[in-house]
Amino acid sequence: MADRHDLRVIPLRCPDCGDGLVAGGDDVIFPCRRCGTFRELDGEELIWREITHAAGPDLDGPHETMRVMTRLPFWVFPFRAATPAGEVATLRDYLLLAGSVMKLTPGREEKPPLLFVPAFAAKTAFVLRAGRLLTLRAPAFSRSSGTPGRLVPIVFREADARALAEAVVLATVAAERRVNQRFLDAFAVRCGAGRLLSIPFDGREGRLYQPDLDLEI
Ligand SMILES: [Zn+2]
Repeated sequence: MADRHDLRVIPLRCPDCGDGLVAGGDDVIFPCRRCGTFRELDGEELIWREITHAAGPDLDGPHETMRVMTRLPFWVFPFRAATPAGEVATLRDYLLLAGSVMKLTPGREEKPPLLFVPAFAAKTAFVLRAGRLLTLRAPAFSRSSGTPGRLVPIVFREADARALAEAVVLATVAAERRVNQRFLDAFAVRCGAGRLLSIPFDGREGRLYQPDLDLEI
């Protein structure tokens, strides 16, 4: 029989402002609509989770071009990858590994590559696809000064997203490497600390479209 002390109801109240947190069935990180902070239940404590909002026409820019968009939450991790040819630790190394010919703005190529993993509910195939497309694109979003009124619920914890890291990075690697056993034996991904980022998307014929990246996921 369970000890009665095992049962404890934790009120989902924002520790900052006291307002009720918004919590749906599968949510693991809860927003406060009043003060815009996000909380995650860690044991019995509601810990603060920082979230950055990428700038977009739903929050920034001239009033006449503002529009409602869908804000999707992503986990973003700096990462390193082990390969038979050595460690991939910079964005330049990573783009070579991925076979991408993308031009980077000066100063970015020495930075660590960033892995993107959806934090919202989606089928695994979609999570991998969206993660692959964003990771390959290596977007450098500017930070919004606004706070979105609504964000698609966060249903994956940082550890859940981290568990997908290797699969997402591997999916971005050129196909001939992905079928090479020697490459696969050496391949490993190590992630740094994850952070949450919301990215605005437009709905377009049942798909989601990111206008700044000209990217459909
Ligand atoms: Zn609050």
